[in-house]
Amino acid sequence: MADANPSPTFPKAPIRAMPAPGWPPTQRDSTSGIDPAQIRRMNLNESPFPPSPRAIAAMQEAATRVNYYPDPRWRDLTEALSAHTGIAQNRIVLGNGSDELIVQIARLAVSEGDEVLVPTPSFPSYGKVTAINGGRLVTVPVRQDGAADIDGMLEAVTDRTRLVFLCTPNNPTGGLLSTEEVVRLARGLPTSTVLVVDEAYYEYGRHAGGQDHLAALADVQVPWVSFRTFSKAYGLAGLRVGYALCGSDAMAEAFQKIRSVFNVSRIAQAGALAALADQEHSRSILERTRIERERIAAGLARLGCEAFPSVGNFVSAKCPKPAGDVCAGLEARGVMISRLHAPGYDDYIRITTGNADDTDALLAALEEVLG
Ligand code: PMP
Repeated sequence: MADANPSPTFPKAPIRAMPAPGWPPTQRDSTSGIDPAQIRRMNLNESPFPPSPRAIAAMQEAATRVNYYPDPRWRDLTEALSAHTGIAQNRIVLGNGSDELIVQIARLAVSEGDEVLVPTPSFPSYGKVTAINGGRLVTVPVRQDGAADIDGMLEAVTDRTRLVFLCTPNNPTGGLLSTEEVVRLARGLPTSTVLVVDEAYYEYGRHAGGQDHLAALADVQVPWVSFRTFSKAYGLAGLRVGYALCGSDAMAEAFQKIRSVFNVSRIAQAGALAALADQEHSRSILERTRIERERIAAGLARLGCEAFPSVGNFVSAKCPKPAGDVCAGLEARGVMISRLHAPGYDDYIRITTGNADDTDALLAALEEVLG
Protein backbone atom coordinates (compact mmCIF):
# COMPACT_ATOMS: atom_id res chain seq x y z
CA MET A 1 0.00 0.00 0.00
CA ALA A 2 1.26 3.52 -0.76
CA ASP A 3 2.47 5.75 2.04
CA ALA A 4 -0.59 7.44 3.56
CA ASN A 5 1.29 10.75 3.70
CA PRO A 6 3.88 10.97 0.92
CA SER A 7 4.29 14.77 1.15
CA PRO A 8 7.42 15.98 2.97
CA THR A 9 5.81 19.40 3.54
CA PHE A 10 2.53 18.35 5.10
CA PRO A 11 1.84 18.90 7.91
CA LYS A 12 4.09 21.99 7.93
CA ALA A 13 5.40 21.07 11.37
CA PRO A 14 5.06 17.95 13.49
CA ILE A 15 1.73 17.90 15.33
CA ARG A 16 2.37 17.45 19.00
CA ALA A 17 0.77 14.33 20.34
CA MET A 18 -1.58 14.38 23.31
CA PRO A 19 -0.03 13.32 26.58
CA ALA A 20 -2.32 10.27 26.44
CA PRO A 21 -3.27 8.38 23.27
CA GLY A 22 -6.88 7.85 22.25
CA TRP A 23 -8.03 11.00 20.48
CA PRO A 24 -10.77 11.39 19.38
CA PRO A 25 -12.55 9.17 21.90
CA THR A 26 -14.34 6.10 20.60
CA GLN A 27 -18.09 6.62 20.45
CA ARG A 28 -19.34 3.10 21.03
CA ASP A 29 -23.02 2.84 20.27
CA SER A 30 -22.93 -0.93 20.36
CA THR A 31 -21.21 -3.52 22.47
CA SER A 32 -20.76 -7.06 21.32
CA GLY A 33 -23.90 -9.12 21.23
CA ILE A 34 -26.22 -6.49 22.67
CA ASP A 35 -28.96 -4.75 20.71
CA PRO A 36 -27.71 -1.13 20.27
CA ALA A 37 -31.17 0.14 21.26
CA GLN A 38 -30.75 -1.51 24.66
CA ILE A 39 -27.40 0.10 25.46
CA ARG A 40 -27.46 2.60 28.28
CA ARG A 41 -25.14 5.54 27.60
CA MET A 42 -23.99 6.56 31.05
CA ASN A 43 -20.44 7.47 29.98
CA LEU A 44 -20.41 10.88 28.32
CA ASN A 45 -22.33 13.18 30.67
CA GLU A 46 -25.13 13.51 28.13
CA SER A 47 -28.70 14.19 29.20
CA PRO A 48 -30.89 11.09 28.92
CA PHE A 49 -33.85 13.45 28.62
CA PRO A 50 -34.66 14.88 25.18
CA PRO A 51 -34.63 18.64 24.58
CA SER A 52 -37.64 20.94 24.86
CA PRO A 53 -40.38 20.21 22.29
CA ARG A 54 -40.18 23.93 21.48
CA ALA A 55 -36.50 23.51 20.59
CA ILE A 56 -37.30 20.51 18.38
CA ALA A 57 -39.99 22.49 16.57
CA ALA A 58 -37.62 25.45 16.07
CA MET A 59 -34.93 23.14 14.67
CA GLN A 60 -37.42 21.56 12.25
CA GLU A 61 -38.46 25.01 11.10
CA ALA A 62 -34.83 26.09 10.66
CA ALA A 63 -34.11 22.92 8.67
CA THR A 64 -36.36 24.19 5.88
CA ARG A 65 -34.04 27.17 5.36
CA VAL A 66 -30.60 25.61 5.48
CA ASN A 67 -29.98 26.63 1.89
CA TYR A 68 -29.02 29.96 3.55
CA TYR A 69 -25.96 30.43 5.76
CA PRO A 70 -26.60 31.04 9.45
CA ASP A 71 -26.25 34.49 11.05
CA PRO A 72 -22.45 34.84 11.43
CA ARG A 73 -22.98 37.28 14.31
CA TRP A 74 -25.50 35.03 16.12
CA ARG A 75 -27.54 38.15 17.00
CA ASP A 76 -30.77 36.60 18.28
CA LEU A 77 -29.04 34.04 20.46
CA THR A 78 -26.44 36.41 21.95
CA GLU A 79 -29.20 38.95 22.65
CA ALA A 80 -31.17 36.32 24.57
CA LEU A 81 -28.04 35.11 26.37
CA SER A 82 -27.22 38.67 27.35
CA ALA A 83 -30.65 39.05 28.93
CA HIS A 84 -30.27 35.65 30.60
CA THR A 85 -26.77 36.20 32.06
CA GLY A 86 -26.40 39.98 32.45
CA ILE A 87 -23.22 39.96 30.32
CA ALA A 88 -23.13 42.57 27.52
CA GLN A 89 -24.05 41.13 24.13
CA ASN A 90 -20.71 42.08 22.54
CA ARG A 91 -18.92 40.05 25.21
CA ILE A 92 -20.72 36.80 24.34
CA VAL A 93 -19.03 34.52 21.81
CA LEU A 94 -20.57 31.28 20.58
CA GLY A 95 -18.67 28.10 19.90
CA ASN A 96 -19.33 24.78 18.22
CA GLY A 97 -19.80 23.37 21.70
CA SER A 98 -17.79 24.83 24.57
CA ASP A 99 -15.06 22.41 23.56
CA GLU A 100 -14.30 24.67 20.58
CA LEU A 101 -13.87 27.58 23.00
CA ILE A 102 -11.40 25.53 25.06
CA VAL A 103 -9.37 24.93 21.89
CA GLN A 104 -9.54 28.65 21.04
CA ILE A 105 -8.51 30.01 24.43
CA ALA A 106 -5.43 27.78 24.48
CA ARG A 107 -4.52 28.93 20.99
CA LEU A 108 -4.86 32.55 22.13
CA ALA A 109 -3.00 32.23 25.43
CA VAL A 110 -0.48 29.37 25.35
CA SER A 111 2.93 29.37 23.63
CA GLU A 112 5.82 26.93 23.71
CA GLY A 113 6.98 26.28 27.26
CA ASP A 114 4.08 28.10 28.97
CA GLU A 115 2.43 26.49 31.96
CA VAL A 116 -1.28 25.72 32.12
CA LEU A 117 -2.64 25.18 35.60
CA VAL A 118 -5.53 22.78 36.16
CA PRO A 119 -7.14 20.80 38.97
CA THR A 120 -6.79 17.02 38.72
CA PRO A 121 -8.76 14.99 37.98
CA SER A 122 -10.57 17.32 35.60
CA PHE A 123 -11.72 17.61 32.00
CA PRO A 124 -9.22 15.88 29.63
CA SER A 125 -9.51 18.55 26.88
CA TYR A 126 -7.37 20.90 29.01
CA GLY A 127 -4.42 18.52 28.62
CA LYS A 128 -5.01 18.08 24.90
CA VAL A 129 -5.09 21.81 24.08
CA THR A 130 -2.07 22.45 26.28
CA ALA A 131 -0.02 19.79 24.45
CA ILE A 132 -1.05 21.01 20.99
CA ASN A 133 0.27 24.48 21.78
CA GLY A 134 3.53 23.26 23.30
CA GLY A 135 2.52 24.14 26.86
CA ARG A 136 3.16 22.21 30.04
CA LEU A 137 0.26 21.02 32.17
CA VAL A 138 0.64 21.68 35.89
CA THR A 139 -1.88 19.74 37.97
CA VAL A 140 -3.13 20.34 41.49
CA PRO A 141 -5.18 17.58 43.15
CA VAL A 142 -8.79 18.43 43.97
CA ARG A 143 -9.95 18.66 47.58
CA GLN A 144 -11.65 15.77 49.31
CA ASP A 145 -15.03 17.21 48.35
CA GLY A 146 -14.02 17.07 44.68
CA ALA A 147 -13.76 20.85 44.20
CA ALA A 148 -10.57 22.58 43.00
CA ASP A 149 -8.05 23.37 45.74
CA ILE A 150 -7.83 27.16 45.47
CA ASP A 151 -4.91 27.58 47.89
CA GLY A 152 -2.99 24.74 46.21
CA MET A 153 -3.56 26.27 42.79
CA LEU A 154 -2.40 29.70 43.94
CA GLU A 155 0.77 28.13 45.35
CA ALA A 156 1.44 26.43 41.99
CA VAL A 157 1.41 29.70 40.01
CA THR A 158 4.80 30.66 38.52
CA ASP A 159 5.91 33.39 36.14
CA ARG A 160 5.34 30.90 33.29
CA THR A 161 1.67 30.34 34.15
CA ARG A 162 -0.38 31.67 31.22
CA LEU A 163 -3.70 29.92 31.57
CA VAL A 164 -5.71 28.55 34.48
CA PHE A 165 -8.70 26.26 33.97
CA LEU A 166 -11.10 26.15 36.88
CA CYS A 167 -13.96 23.71 36.38
CA THR A 168 -16.97 24.17 38.65
CA PRO A 169 -18.86 21.92 39.19
CA ASN A 170 -15.73 19.92 38.40
CA ASN A 171 -15.96 17.11 35.85
CA PRO A 172 -15.48 14.26 36.92
CA THR A 173 -15.70 14.80 40.69
CA GLY A 174 -18.70 17.12 40.80
CA GLY A 175 -17.35 19.50 43.48
CA LEU A 176 -18.71 23.04 43.50
CA LEU A 177 -16.86 26.27 44.38
CA SER A 178 -18.37 29.31 46.07
CA THR A 179 -18.13 32.79 44.55
CA GLU A 180 -15.73 33.73 47.35
CA GLU A 181 -13.39 30.90 46.28
CA VAL A 182 -13.54 31.69 42.56
CA VAL A 183 -12.88 35.38 43.24
CA ARG A 184 -10.04 34.57 45.66
CA LEU A 185 -8.30 32.61 42.92
CA ALA A 186 -8.95 35.36 40.37
CA ARG A 187 -7.55 38.05 42.69
CA GLY A 188 -4.47 35.95 43.46
CA LEU A 189 -3.48 35.48 39.80
CA PRO A 190 -1.04 37.79 38.02
CA THR A 191 -2.59 39.75 35.14
CA SER A 192 -0.20 37.93 32.78
CA THR A 193 -2.44 34.85 33.14
CA VAL A 194 -5.93 34.17 31.81
CA LEU A 195 -8.58 32.56 34.02
CA VAL A 196 -11.13 30.23 32.43
CA VAL A 197 -14.07 29.30 34.61
CA ASP A 198 -15.46 26.23 32.86
CA GLU A 199 -19.11 26.12 33.85
CA ALA A 200 -20.34 23.36 31.55
CA TYR A 201 -22.41 22.11 34.51
CA TYR A 202 -23.35 25.58 35.81
CA GLU A 203 -27.11 24.94 35.80
CA TYR A 204 -26.73 21.77 37.91
CA GLY A 205 -24.65 23.75 40.41
CA ARG A 206 -27.34 26.41 40.65
CA HIS A 207 -30.02 23.76 41.08
CA ALA A 208 -28.02 22.40 44.02
CA GLY A 209 -27.85 25.85 45.67
CA GLY A 210 -24.64 27.13 44.03
CA GLN A 211 -23.95 30.75 43.17
CA ASP A 212 -23.58 32.77 39.98
CA HIS A 213 -20.04 34.24 40.02
CA LEU A 214 -20.36 36.66 37.09
CA ALA A 215 -21.22 39.85 38.99
CA ALA A 216 -18.39 39.32 41.47
CA LEU A 217 -15.89 38.60 38.68
CA ALA A 218 -16.69 41.97 37.08
CA ASP A 219 -14.28 43.65 39.54
CA VAL A 220 -11.21 41.43 39.18
CA GLN A 221 -8.07 42.51 37.31
CA VAL A 222 -7.04 39.22 35.70
CA PRO A 223 -8.44 38.59 32.18
CA TRP A 224 -11.22 36.01 32.60
CA VAL A 225 -13.88 34.15 30.68
CA SER A 226 -16.64 31.72 31.67
CA PHE A 227 -17.66 28.87 29.35
CA ARG A 228 -21.20 27.48 29.43
CA THR A 229 -23.03 25.11 27.14
CA PHE A 230 -26.38 23.91 25.83
CA SER A 231 -25.06 20.34 25.81
CA LYS A 232 -26.00 19.38 29.35
CA ALA A 233 -28.93 21.05 31.12
CA TYR A 234 -30.75 21.74 27.85
CA GLY A 235 -30.28 18.24 26.46
CA LEU A 236 -28.62 19.47 23.25
CA ALA A 237 -25.19 17.76 23.23
CA GLY A 238 -25.63 16.63 19.63
CA LEU A 239 -26.39 20.19 18.48
CA ARG A 240 -22.98 21.68 19.47
CA VAL A 241 -23.61 25.10 21.03
CA GLY A 242 -21.42 26.51 23.78
CA TYR A 243 -20.81 30.12 24.74
CA ALA A 244 -18.08 32.27 26.24
CA LEU A 245 -19.04 35.04 28.67
CA CYS A 246 -16.04 37.35 28.43
CA GLY A 247 -14.78 39.60 31.21
CA SER A 248 -13.66 42.32 28.78
CA ASP A 249 -14.24 43.59 25.23
CA ALA A 250 -10.63 42.67 24.42
CA MET A 251 -11.22 39.05 25.44
CA ALA A 252 -14.31 38.80 23.19
CA GLU A 253 -12.49 40.46 20.28
CA ALA A 254 -9.65 37.94 20.54
CA PHE A 255 -12.10 35.03 20.16
CA GLN A 256 -13.86 36.81 17.27
CA LYS A 257 -10.59 37.22 15.36
CA ILE A 258 -9.69 33.54 15.29
CA ARG A 259 -13.02 31.79 14.90
CA SER A 260 -14.47 30.47 11.66
CA VAL A 261 -17.24 32.66 10.33
CA PHE A 262 -20.24 30.27 10.31
CA ASN A 263 -19.21 28.14 13.28
CA VAL A 264 -22.72 27.62 14.71
CA SER A 265 -25.27 26.27 12.25
CA ARG A 266 -28.69 27.76 11.51
CA ILE A 267 -30.39 24.75 13.10
CA ALA A 268 -28.17 25.03 16.17
CA GLN A 269 -28.83 28.74 16.70
CA ALA A 270 -32.58 28.21 16.37
CA GLY A 271 -32.64 25.20 18.68
CA ALA A 272 -30.55 26.84 21.39
CA LEU A 273 -32.65 30.02 21.29
CA ALA A 274 -35.89 28.08 21.76
CA ALA A 275 -34.36 25.89 24.47
CA LEU A 276 -33.19 28.95 26.40
CA ALA A 277 -36.72 30.34 26.29
CA ASP A 278 -38.11 27.12 27.80
CA GLN A 279 -36.56 27.32 31.27
CA GLU A 280 -39.31 25.16 32.68
CA HIS A 281 -38.17 22.24 30.54
CA SER A 282 -34.56 22.71 31.62
CA ARG A 283 -35.65 22.83 35.27
CA SER A 284 -37.39 19.50 34.84
CA ILE A 285 -34.18 17.99 33.39
CA LEU A 286 -32.26 19.34 36.40
CA GLU A 287 -34.74 17.98 38.90
CA ARG A 288 -34.98 14.53 37.32
CA THR A 289 -31.18 14.45 37.18
CA ARG A 290 -30.93 15.30 40.89
CA ILE A 291 -33.27 12.45 41.81
CA GLU A 292 -31.32 9.86 39.78
CA ARG A 293 -27.95 11.20 40.97
CA GLU A 294 -29.03 10.71 44.58
CA ARG A 295 -30.26 7.19 43.83
CA ILE A 296 -26.94 6.33 42.17
CA ALA A 297 -24.93 7.79 45.06
CA ALA A 298 -26.98 5.81 47.60
CA GLY A 299 -26.57 2.62 45.54
CA LEU A 300 -22.81 3.14 45.26
CA ALA A 301 -22.52 3.55 49.04
CA ARG A 302 -24.55 0.37 49.58
CA LEU A 303 -22.15 -1.53 47.30
CA GLY A 304 -19.05 -0.37 49.15
CA CYS A 305 -17.97 2.40 46.76
CA GLU A 306 -16.85 5.81 48.06
CA ALA A 307 -18.47 8.50 45.95
CA PHE A 308 -17.52 12.17 45.69
CA PRO A 309 -20.46 14.39 46.72
CA SER A 310 -21.30 15.48 43.16
CA VAL A 311 -23.74 18.19 42.10
CA GLY A 312 -23.28 17.45 38.36
CA ASN A 313 -25.14 15.03 36.08
CA PHE A 314 -22.57 12.37 37.02
CA VAL A 315 -21.09 10.69 40.08
CA SER A 316 -17.51 9.46 40.47
CA ALA A 317 -16.55 6.85 43.02
CA LYS A 318 -13.70 4.69 44.24
CA CYS A 319 -14.55 1.00 43.77
CA PRO A 320 -13.33 -2.09 45.59
CA LYS A 321 -12.21 -3.43 42.17
CA PRO A 322 -10.04 -1.91 39.37
CA ALA A 323 -12.09 0.55 37.34
CA GLY A 324 -11.21 -1.15 34.04
CA ASP A 325 -12.77 -4.41 35.25
CA VAL A 326 -15.88 -2.64 36.54
CA CYS A 327 -16.36 -0.78 33.23
CA ALA A 328 -15.89 -3.99 31.21
CA GLY A 329 -18.29 -5.91 33.46
CA LEU A 330 -20.95 -3.23 33.07
CA GLU A 331 -20.38 -2.95 29.34
CA ALA A 332 -20.98 -6.70 28.97
CA ARG A 333 -24.33 -6.04 30.65
CA GLY A 334 -25.16 -3.19 28.26
CA VAL A 335 -24.28 -0.28 30.55
CA MET A 336 -21.57 2.12 29.38
CA ILE A 337 -19.78 4.10 32.07
CA SER A 338 -16.28 5.59 32.12
CA ARG A 339 -13.22 5.54 34.31
CA LEU A 340 -11.17 8.46 35.56
CA HIS A 341 -8.17 9.18 33.37
CA ALA A 342 -5.76 10.65 35.91
CA PRO A 343 -2.75 9.21 37.69
CA GLY A 344 -3.72 7.72 41.04
CA TYR A 345 -7.36 7.14 40.08
CA ASP A 346 -7.17 3.59 38.73
CA ASP A 347 -9.99 2.46 41.03
CA TYR A 348 -12.36 5.28 40.14
CA ILE A 349 -15.38 5.13 37.85
CA ARG A 350 -17.65 7.92 36.61
CA ILE A 351 -21.33 7.29 36.02
CA THR A 352 -23.50 9.74 34.10
CA THR A 353 -27.04 9.97 35.47
CA GLY A 354 -29.62 8.39 33.18
CA ASN A 355 -33.37 8.05 33.58
CA ALA A 356 -35.00 6.03 36.38
CA ASP A 357 -34.89 2.86 34.33
CA ASP A 358 -31.17 3.34 33.62
CA THR A 359 -30.49 3.72 37.35
CA ASP A 360 -32.29 0.44 38.09
CA ALA A 361 -30.32 -1.39 35.40
CA LEU A 362 -27.02 0.19 36.41
CA LEU A 363 -27.38 -0.71 40.08
CA ALA A 364 -28.44 -4.29 39.29
CA ALA A 365 -25.45 -4.74 36.96
CA LEU A 366 -23.07 -3.11 39.43
CA GLU A 367 -24.23 -5.46 42.16
CA GLU A 368 -23.38 -8.43 39.94
CA VAL A 369 -20.00 -7.01 38.92
CA LEU A 370 -18.90 -6.03 42.41
CA GLY A 371 -20.51 -8.88 44.28
N1 PMP B 1 -16.21 21.34 29.78
C1 PMP B 1 -16.47 20.28 30.56
C2 PMP B 1 -16.04 20.32 31.97
C3 PMP B 1 -17.14 19.17 30.04
O1 PMP B 1 -17.39 18.12 30.82
C4 PMP B 1 -17.55 19.18 28.69
C5 PMP B 1 -18.26 18.01 28.05
N2 PMP B 1 -18.20 16.81 28.64
C6 PMP B 1 -17.23 20.29 27.93
C7 PMP B 1 -16.58 21.36 28.50
C8 PMP B 1 -17.56 20.37 26.48
O2 PMP B 1 -18.92 20.39 26.26
P1 PMP B 1 -19.55 20.85 24.89
O3 PMP B 1 -18.44 20.97 23.89
O4 PMP B 1 -20.53 19.79 24.54
O5 PMP B 1 -20.18 22.18 25.16
